[in-house]
Amino acid sequence: MLKKMRLMDNLPSVDQWFLKALEMVYQKHTPAHCFIAEIDPLQTKAQTLCYLNNGQQVSNIHYELAASPCQVTISSDEVCYFPHSVQSQFPHDDILKTLNAQSYLAISLRDLGGETVGILVCIFSKPIELTSSQIEWLSDFGYFILQKQTQQQAVAEKQQLVENLNTAQNLAKIGNWRWDVSNDVVLWSKEIYRIFEMDITNDNLSFGQTTQFIHHDDCKRFNHVISQILTGDKDSDNLIYRIVLANGQIKYLHQLATITKSAEGEVVCLEGTIQDISKLYQLNLDKKLSDVVLDHSSESIMITDSQNKIILVNKAMERLTGYSQAELLGKNPSILSSGLQNSEFYHQMWQALLLTGSWKGEVWNKRKNGQIYPEELALNVVKNEQDIASHYVAIFRDITNWKATEQELLFFANCDPLTSLLNRRSFIGQLEQHLDVASDETLLSILFIDVDKFKTINDSYGHETGDLLLCELANRLSKIIGENDLLCRYGGDEFTLLISDTSLVKTQVICDQIQRCFNHLFKLNEVAVDVTASIGVAMYPDAGTTAKLLLRHANHAMHNAKNDGRNCISFHDTLSQKKYQHKLELKKQLKLALEQGQLHVYYQPIVDIEKNQISKFEALVRWPNGDGGFISPNEFIPIAQEYGLIHLVGQFVLEQACLDLKHLHRQGYKHISFSINRSISEFFHDELEQESIATVIAAAGLPYDSIVIEITESTALSENRYAKKALSQLKARGIKIALDDFCTGYSSLNYLIDYDVDIIKIDRSFVKAIKQDKNSQILTSTVIELASKLGIEVIAEGVETDEQLSFLRQQGCRYIQGFYFSPAVPIADCLSLLGKYSSLNRQLNLVG
Ligand code: C2E
Ligand code: CA
Ligand code: CA
Repeated sequence: MLKKMRLMDNLPSVDQWFLKALEMVYQKHTPAHCFIAEIDPLQTKAQTLCYLNNGQQVSNIHYELAASPCQVTISSDEVCYFPHSVQSQFPHDDILKTLNAQSYLAISLRDLGGETVGILVCIFSKPIELTSSQIEWLSDFGYFILQKQTQQQAVAEKQQLVENLNTAQNLAKIGNWRWDVSNDVVLWSKEIYRIFEMDITNDNLSFGQTTQFIHHDDCKRFNHVISQILTGDKDSDNLIYRIVLANGQIKYLHQLATITKSAEGEVVCLEGTIQDISKLYQLNLDKKLSDVVLDHSSESIMITDSQNKIILVNKAMERLTGYSQAELLGKNPSILSSGLQNSEFYHQMWQALLLTGSWKGEVWNKRKNGQIYPEELALNVVKNEQDIASHYVAIFRDITNWKATEQELLFFANCDPLTSLLNRRSFIGQLEQHLDVASDETLLSILFIDVDKFKTINDSYGHETGDLLLCELANRLSKIIGENDLLCRYGGDEFTLLISDTSLVKTQVICDQIQRCFNHLFKLNEVAVDVTASIGVAMYPDAGTTAKLLLRHANHAMHNAKNDGRNCISFHDTLSQKKYQHKLELKKQLKLALEQGQLHVYYQPIVDIEKNQISKFEALVRWPNGDGGFISPNEFIPIAQEYGLIHLVGQFVLEQACLDLKHLHRQGYKHISFSINRSISEFFHDELEQESIATVIAAAGLPYDSIVIEITESTALSENRYAKKALSQLKARGIKIALDDFCTGYSSLNYLIDYDVDIIKIDRSFVKAIKQDKNSQILTSTVIELASKLGIEVIAEGVETDEQLSFLRQQGCRYIQGFYFSPAVPIADCLSLLGKYSSLNRQLNLVG
């Protein structure tokens, strides 16, 4: 019990205090043994707390009180004194024997309540004689020991309390103050000094000194409240105000105060607390700010706790989901789940979230009204100090509009806006994907479908009608194809179709179906149009193993179908493929030949059999084949036409022919004219064509009427709206127009009149057949007769025999061209031919 009287650090310890006391006793009485012992509550045992043996401190002991002089001592208020023979008086006390005790002096130590808590004992090894004052001294000393002890204990406890209060105030940032109003003295606790960041001073503070720090914006309010208190209008204060420290720092303080009044009702004292609430205030401010941000954010925000229960949602979230905050609080976010993502999706999402602390992606969620919508979701984990997830923050937004835009962009990137079919790019891409995964067993068909004479529909009914036709066609074709097949608007009036998992038979069936879908008239804006299509087919793997090759071959097959008279189906085959490749090769070579000046012009004489002299030459292009022979114009002219090179050929021949004709004229053959072949397609797009022809002639210094332009009528003149204009402009300058290969192609007597043709050339095939074919004879003679009535010259082509010549002469055909006289020859040979005919004529004239 004695030991419980703990002393504070700045005071002597209990042991030191007891030692000091025992040393004083020793000095006074020099006992062999003296000690202070603690008595247990049952008063049966004693435990020494400090022990001196012959004035030296030794180890403590404990002993039983029964049958000992100590038992007598503790039951008495007096000093217990046995001057001699103490052992014989307590024969059962072994300790007395052990200590060789002769005499005994002791006093019980009692606390303020009179309770015995300990004992102070002196044992002497010889008899002692004490005066009553000496005995009294010990009695007083025992009392003093305890008094002093208790007093020190009380001081220590008070100090501890002050200390505790100080610590508590420091932790709570609350200090207390007291203002003695009448004396104007303010007392601050340590914490207030700390809050004001001032050194603690023992000088008295006045109220004015303590209020000087108040922020000037808060002064008025503060003073008003204080004056209300002083005048008795208020008896407490509860204020929040700011102070400005010497270093400019601003703190927010919360002040509470109560008043004490005198009996007369005067305010004598004001006391209360001041709390530094700067941090709290800042937190509050931060929270207010984040509340504003949360509520005004256009993004939906949801916060869940560590158990993933919703603890906060913002207004945007309420608007987006249709749920109110109250409906969502405490719920699991799965309340929003649409069911469109499987558990694996969420599993992976959580794994990523927990591993990396965040996750971002697209999710389909469901509104309260059941509507499902796509959202972009960003999840973040908030961790506490122990690094454990305490909250999850979800920020998301409705991306329905984005999705729609994305779809739209995807559509425009991959589809043809007019028909909504795949466009060329995406068709090729998907075809390539099919080819990538093709196995040995795979059979695919690529169809190239081209609307026949689509241009005529556009020209006749306008582009709008053309567009409608394409849409209706897309519609009809879509109904034919299987779900794994791909239909594409390849461009213009061309469609392509990929038939997957096919066979030759299946492909033929589909081709037939496609042709049949053209059987019904297309009703477009009050117009009913009859349309056919040419279809080319290339099959994987025979026709090629790449998308490029397959498409090229299907396209080529389609062109074959066109050449076969349109409205039919053509399958790619190797022979036509080879022809096609040859054609491509020739085109390449022709380009090169044009660039490198490998082409020549030969001239075939046209003989005036009345005058028996050469009156014209036809310029014919010659392309040496490298073996001493020539590549036939019949082979390369159509290619030049097809690939847009014909204009270059035409221009070259014209320029060369003009130079050569000029040469002949200079040699004195001024009556000679040259015929130049021009393809009607050259007049298709270029209105300036006739201009360039005229320019070349003029540049050579030739009269316009020395040039004849031969137009092959293999294409209908009516199909070319520029042709008529162009030809009439040429004629206006004096250039002559000949209609080549007359009676073979699209001949119409109309043209003779319409185009005001100067010359017609009867085709070689008729001349050839004159001998055996009656019809050819009739036709030839009719043409000659008709032409002469219309004032049109007639040239018979391909005359090889006497019979042909004499028949033509009989019919009155004046101009003859053919091997009978000469094939086409170089310009140098033309001169000798001319020379030969002149001398022949001179001879004939002489004879005549
Ligand atoms: P074309 O305009 O009908 O030219 C006459 C063709 O008949 C020439 O063939 C000529 O060599 C051939 N020929 C002339 N007399 C006879 C004959 O007695 N018997 C036979 N069997 N053939 C005869 P070529 O030079 O092979 O020209 C073929 C076609 O190529 C020309 O037919 C013409 O349509 C075209 N062509 C030739 N040169 C040019 C040119 O510079 N420009 C254009 N656009 N086409 C040309
Ligand atoms: Ca010709
Ligand atoms: Ca001809």
